[in-house]
Amino acid sequence: MYGSGLIKGMGVTFKHFVETYLEDLKYVFKGGRYNDKHLAVRQGPKAKGIFTVQYPEEKLPVPENFRYIPFLVFDTQKNEDRCTSCGICAKVCPPQCIWIVRTNDPKTNRPIPQPAEFYIDATICMSCSLCAEFCPFDAIKMDHDYELASFERFNTLVFDKARLTKPDTYHAAIHPTDWARELQDKEAAARKEAEKAAAAAAKKAAAEAAVAAKAAETDKPADEAQPAA
Ligand code: SF4
Ligand code: SF4
Repeated sequence: MYGSGLIKGMGVTFKHFVETYLEDLKYVFKGGRYNDKHLAVRQGPKAKGIFTVQYPEEKLPVPENFRYIPFLVFDTQKNEDRCTSCGICAKVCPPQCIWIVRTNDPKTNRPIPQPAEFYIDATICMSCSLCAEFCPFDAIKMDHDYELASFERFNTLVFDKARLTKPDTYHAAIHPTDWARELQDKEAAARKEAEKAAAAAAKKAAAEAAVAAKAAETDKPADEAQPAA
């Protein structure tokens, strides 16, 4: 029939239109449109309807390993930066967009392992995460914040230390797996340290006991020490 193809096509469009709202309704009481289960279905091969995100009013949650511009982790327990300004991240950064100035002791002028200044040029950073991979102190991590648009394209996009620094609680919140691994590593290191200290204490006690025994042996009267034949 003339026009039947057109009607079929419109039918498919209408089906998708209705399914879109039916799918949304299904999850109204199951955590809303953006819970993980819903997203896995809506963004997978079994998706029904049209899935449109009304950005910026609506935002999709990003996965834990999502990476954007790096940030520096501030240790809230020790109340200090984790960064020691060793410079490894700056060396491995492929586009060379990290600049670090190490702190110097004002009296001796000797270097202190803390960054006085730390800059990352966000217009050059390619979010490769090599800095975070290579940092031996877990001091630099990849951020999830991708909303960095600005009306000024030079100074505002060169991030300084104040802008880059975020507390470790933020790191724990956005990288729970990495945080759990860090805690495990810390516990293992503390256990190893305690075992090492216990072994050293035992060795010291044994040495002291041996010295005391030798001294007691020396202090014995001659006839007691060498009985007559
Ligand atoms: S962020 Fe890490 S690798 Fe970079 S200077 Fe600081 S401690 Fe070194
Ligand atoms: S993410 Fe890559 S490009 Fe960006 S600062 Fe780190 S190493 Fe450099």
